[in-house]
Amino acid sequence: MKLTRRRFDALIVGAGGAGLRAALQLARADANVAVVSKVFPTRSHTVAAQGGVNAALANVVSDDWHWHMFDTVKGSDYLGDQDAIEFMCRAAPKVVYELDHYGVPFSRLEDGTIYQRAFGGQSRHFGKEQAVRTCAAADRTGHAILHSLYQQNIRAKTHFFDEYFTVDLIKDADGHVLGVLAFSIETGEPILIEAKTTLLATGGVAQLYRTNTNALINTGDGMAMALRAGIPLQDMEFIQFHPTGIAGRGMLITEGARGEGGYLVNSEGERFMERYAPHAKDLASRDVVSRAIYTEVKEGRGCGPRKDYCLLKVDHLGADVVKSRLPGIRDMCLTFLHLDPAEQAIPVYPTAHYTMGGIPTNRFGQVVVPVRDTPEAPVPGLYAAGECACVSVHGANRLGGNSLLDILVFGRAAANHIIEYLADNRYHRPMDEDSVEAAMARLTRWDRRGDGESPEQVRHALKQAMEDHVGVFREQSLLEAGVEQVRAVAERLQSAVLRDHSRVFNTARVEALETENLVACAQAVAQSALARTESRGAHSRVDHPKRDDGRWMRHSLYFLASDNLDYKPVRTRPLTVDSFPPVERVY
Ligand SMILES: Cc1cc2nc3c(=O)[nH]c(=O)nc-3n(C[C@H](O)[C@H](O)[C@H](O)COP(=O)(O)OP(=O)(O)OC[C@H]3O[C@@H](n4cnc5c(N)ncnc54)[C@H](O)[C@@H]3O)c2cc1C
Repeated sequence: MKLTRRRFDALIVGAGGAGLRAALQLARADANVAVVSKVFPTRSHTVAAQGGVNAALANVVSDDWHWHMFDTVKGSDYLGDQDAIEFMCRAAPKVVYELDHYGVPFSRLEDGTIYQRAFGGQSRHFGKEQAVRTCAAADRTGHAILHSLYQQNIRAKTHFFDEYFTVDLIKDADGHVLGVLAFSIETGEPILIEAKTTLLATGGVAQLYRTNTNALINTGDGMAMALRAGIPLQDMEFIQFHPTGIAGRGMLITEGARGEGGYLVNSEGERFMERYAPHAKDLASRDVVSRAIYTEVKEGRGCGPRKDYCLLKVDHLGADVVKSRLPGIRDMCLTFLHLDPAEQAIPVYPTAHYTMGGIPTNRFGQVVVPVRDTPEAPVPGLYAAGECACVSVHGANRLGGNSLLDILVFGRAAANHIIEYLADNRYHRPMDEDSVEAAMARLTRWDRRGDGESPEQVRHALKQAMEDHVGVFREQSLLEAGVEQVRAVAERLQSAVLRDHSRVFNTARVEALETENLVACAQAVAQSALARTESRGAHSRVDHPKRDDGRWMRHSLYFLASDNLDYKPVRTRPLTVDSFPPVERVY
């Protein structure tokens, strides 16, 4: 097969908010920058973000980035790295105003300032009062952000490889990352893209679960590429289940619905969150609300003929509020449930939503790995930002509205670091042909013919195994069985074959490669979850119900080659302020 070769200063894999924010910064600094995306950029999952982006603008009530930082540290169940959290919360107002100037059509308050709504886990005066911090463009904030960033990139002349699938990173023997091998989904032709720096911005991996809120493309490709390049994944046991997915289907009903005044009830009509979180109630943090719904259903107070969901009420808010503040939610309920939320309550159940863990980075977006006695040595030429990265600002549990913020702040910060790196590293390094060959082999492996299962069957088995064994509540024997099942699935995939070997738009080939990536990520999630014998944030072990700071105030690192774990300390020292030492987390 002919291998086309292209060269750029900076390569970005992923055209979601993180990739596009980084690309824009680089293109504006006159770097020769290319973005590769397996879907047209504005179809990236960022487009689906509904509720909004957090920044202490104080447009509705008083606010302060220190309070935002406090909430984020507490929300993370003290596993978040406080230097990165401080950096993010301080930068928040700036990146939101930048968006405003790029043309994001934020909803407005009466006085013309950016509209803000309340979201879960937000407070003022360090936990005393509810804050109103989430900046929103109705319930289509991600859509507005992604489209504006794409338009600005077109203007700045960023080069796009639309509908190209990245297979693997290319590395030389010294560990420098030299670019990627990709192929055009349209023609099937491979392409080697060389770059002085490569930024992974490939998004999350909630497709690991049968019921999830994510786009079909969120298969953890960048995370798996990192694993295969010898880089560990950090804190993968922490998968966020969003409390309000449409029951039985998984699509998201934004936390903004509760931010606007919606609340949950069980079959007895009781506002049960008052029992679980007397203070914050329906606006407690996501892990808390998910466990509450799960417990209500398990204890027989679920709604519907099978008593298997709870109800989210927004009908008391009035048709005007529902139509103007939650139009996307209304459309979704009308389309998928044939009900109007302005008149009837919405059936909801927790659904896999967000990956707190990912590729370990520092706050400059540099990918970092343990080398001898340094826990965080940068991998030369490699960066990561957004949901595929773990910087780690979300620790064991992410607050709503903090991910759009994370992708903007760290997409931008990574680009700024890349600009400095490019000034000091002006030439491309020699290509490593062995590494190219290894990546090509992974691609051509799917040309094999013969009998065998389809990768699709294997993917279904994987998603079911993860849902059954590594879900909201976890326990030793369940996790052990989960690890075994994921191993068995990995073996089945080795002998799976494609029926269709054509080149042009062969989506089965893309899905086969994605399934390999899912399996690698599943191993990381299941193994990390089995090892962590405590409950913290989204990781809830019924057999170890307490948080154990003495043993577990540390980040997990999963390595694929050894199928084993290592650990590193939490960065508890912020940049300029006092740290927030761990206390019991109640809402
Ligand atoms: C339904 C929903 C609602 C949400 N609402 C909110 C919210 O209101 N507020 C908030 O803060 N967060 C929200 N989130 C979370 C937030 O939207 C995401 O975490 C964030 O947008 C991820 O951005 P990203 O740039 O990291 O990745 P994505 O937007 O997922 O983009 C990933 C990119 O990588 C590319 N890619 C992946 N693999 C490959 C490959 N192999 N080759 C080439 N390209 C590849 C894709 O094509 C895509 O362009 C929501 C998430 C969901 C699912």
